Amino acid sequence: MIVTLLGVRGSIPTPLKNAEYSEKLRQVLTRAVAQGLTAPQIDSFMNDLPLDLRYVIGGETTACTVQLDQMPLPILIDCGTAIRSFGDELMQGACGRGQGEIHIFLTHTHWDHIQGLPFFKPAYIPGNKLHFYSPLPDLQDRLIYQQTDRFFPMPFMATASEKHFHHLTGPTTFPDGTQVDFHALKHPGGCFAYKFTRSGHSFIFATDAEFTGTDLEHPEDFRAFFSQADLVVMDAQYTLDESFAKFDWGHTSYTMAVNCAAQWKVKNLVLTHHEPAYSDAKIVENFLNAIEHRDLMKIEYPKVHMAREGLAFRIGSNEP
Ligand SMILES: [Zn+2]
Ligand SMILES: [Zn+2]
Repeated sequence: MIVTLLGVRGSIPTPLKNAEYSEKLRQVLTRAVAQGLTAPQIDSFMNDLPLDLRYVIGGETTACTVQLDQMPLPILIDCGTAIRSFGDELMQGACGRGQGEIHIFLTHTHWDHIQGLPFFKPAYIPGNKLHFYSPLPDLQDRLIYQQTDRFFPMPFMATASEKHFHHLTGPTTFPDGTQVDFHALKHPGGCFAYKFTRSGHSFIFATDAEFTGTDLEHPEDFRAFFSQADLVVMDAQYTLDESFAKFDWGHTSYTMAVNCAAQWKVKNLVLTHHEPAYSDAKIVENFLNAIEHRDLMKIEYPKVHMAREGLAFRIGSNEP
């Protein structure tokens, strides 16, 4: 299975500001001048740039795809703003002809996880089938409410695609044998992690979760679910200090994310749901601090990764 991160920003869309862009540019040019860069060296120069200068981490809110074997289209997890451009891509294929079938798992219905849905073009094409999955029994009502005419011009159920709602009470299995399980997370209003397992390999999406020291003292609540997962994309919105200041806000520090992943013997940890107030440089600093924290524990795993738009992982391989 291939996991691709489409949107990695927490809470609210966060476009890159001119000041931050200009600062990146200034630093890149300063490096180029200092190295006497010539045209043939551009590619290697770019590859050697620090992460925050080489990439834009991205301001789109949460969405992620999981491509399974024997499925023509990837499964979607969450419908943050990132699904607008993803929907445009889908329109180039079967979805543009009204022959698309899309399976969508929603972790919860906070704005940043559903606000892309009104702008998801495949939903407007007759013949397309959208399957929504959630342990929430009233998911359909919530999505209808988001698009009442007080908030959006087109009612959700008036969009032309077929919609099917699957109320999850246990595991779901897809044609290639992949099983999807869920686990409740601590978050205001509730949230669910999803775990995709096939042939002994597993991927878990666990954002909008406040993991704390209590989870380390009582690991049995989560151990069976997270144990030895190949890849966990986990909420790591805050620094440790900020997580104390924002106790009960429903998010986790990168330090605690590493602690939990280490406790549960996760192989690869991806830090996501980046705080909107943090610059790319700050997010990279947190990422490097997370690696240092893991190293101070003198353990090799989890490998720590920083979520950015477009980052993809093939499960069964440690390399992104
Ligand atoms: Zn969120
Ligand atoms: Zn939330």
